Amino acid sequence: MSVCDNYRTVEEKVEAACRRAGRNRDEVTLIAVSKTKPVSMIEELLPIGVRDFGENKVQELTAKEEVLPKDIRWHMIGHLQRNKVKYVIDKACMIHSVDSLRLASEISKEAVKHGITADILIEVNVAGEESKFGVSVEETPSLVQEVAKLPGIKVKGLMTIAPYVDDPEENRGVFRNLRKLSVDIGEKNFDNVTMNVLSMGMTGDYEVAIEEGATHVRVGTGIFGERGTGIFGERNYNIEE
Ligand SMILES: *Cc1c(COP(=O)(O)O)cnc(C)c1O
Repeated sequence: MSVCDNYRTVEEKVEAACRRAGRNRDEVTLIAVSKTKPVSMIEELLPIGVRDFGENKVQELTAKEEVLPKDIRWHMIGHLQRNKVKYVIDKACMIHSVDSLRLASEISKEAVKHGITADILIEVNVAGEESKFGVSVEETPSLVQEVAKLPGIKVKGLMTIAPYVDDPEENRGVFRNLRKLSVDIGEKNFDNVTMNVLSMGMTGDYEVAIEEGATHVRVGTGIFGERGTGIFGERNYNIEE
């Protein structure tokens, strides 16, 4: 199977999930997570119109951005260190992984410096897994409120990395809880906050995530194949550099 064949298979499943949920296909952005994969594999997808790609490391995102067409939308989905914000601020279309006011402040500072508005999501550790980054459900509303006060930042919604499970149904409750949290926060009508984006669902569970309201699904393995194991193994979704 080629990368394009894989992509089309995932696309069909995205369409089917949208139909089941009574949603329009254009409500869901399929992000091809290209981390650890070569530029040549990304290039295979360009002729069929794919433009949304996800990376979890600053160095890899900027290296690929430099050599690939400028109309690609790069999503920063991995844990971001404050000292690296300056390298991605004008390269990423959205930062999905903001989980502290300190990080948000750095993003704000760099965005103002570049004269841009950075679209960001707050990463929520819905399942409370110790190994994961992200803020707790309880802390999320106040963090959203504080982050939204910063100049040069627009809070667009929430992101979560669900637990690794064998049966995607096990994560339905996680996705439902993130959706509920986003509705609750939306109802608070904080200035400078919209809760239109829900970034949730990966290869193992994106169909369930779409049924539960995902607007952005992040699919790596399902499109590009296994990433191999090693110290940066398959399961380590959100490693520090
Ligand atoms: C790697 C990664 C993905 C994609 O994971 P797959 O299971 O390969 O689809 C999605 N989101 C984040 C944050 C990741 O780091």
